[in-house]
Amino acid sequence: MANEILYSLLKEYEQKKLKKELDLEKRKKALYKEIPRLQQIEDDLNNFAISTAKNILLHKVSSLDVLQQKIESLKYEKASILQNSMLPPNYLEPYYECCVCKDTGYILINHSKTQMCSCLKQKLLDASFHKSNIANLDKENFNTFNENLFSDEIDVAKYHFNISPKQNIKNIKKKCIDFIENFDDANVKNLLFTGNTGLRKNFYVQLYCTRAFKKR
Ligand SMILES: [Zn+2]
Repeated sequence: MANEILYSLLKEYEQKKLKKELDLEKRKKALYKEIPRLQQIEDDLNNFAISTAKNILLHKVSSLDVLQQKIESLKYEKASILQNSMLPPNYLEPYYECCVCKDTGYILINHSKTQMCSCLKQKLLDASFHKSNIANLDKENFNTFNENLFSDEIDVAKYHFNISPKQNIKNIKKKCIDFIENFDDANVKNLLFTGNTGLRKNFYVQLYCTRAFKKR
């Protein structure tokens, strides 16, 4: 299940990234038609970047400073043109949703390792949470919890408890609250909800999730 979610999220990221890059191409095309000098600047910047790489490979360090100065000068000219045209400084860059990973979902650490970006981690959590059927917190939470729906009657034969269903549910609620209040304590054991379908186990999971989210 987790792999399926990740796979579909990565597909989404790929499409999102592609769309942002296509949008940029459209913006460039329209603006370059209006201001051809920007197209020349881009071509020159690309050529200087290639020249820089070649000089590094050929160990021609002396010419690198000159190239760098030319690059800086072109970047300055480009920024000035954008400013004079009342356009944002990043107008000729893709408008990625996440500028950290550039909508790839991963970031490079120390030029070698890749690590999942926090935006993708959050989307994975959201998707897993949604799929777990406990996403209905706005309706099913401690504020809507009504213990009066449970009977006061003590009937051991019927309920297999020597307390009433109402008292039982109040005890469960208290245990849920205690669990959340002490969630950070490593000695507190997990809660396990078991029972047949239709017993509203999800509802109680939601109750303590609501409390946990409000606490954080
Ligand atoms: Zn990201």
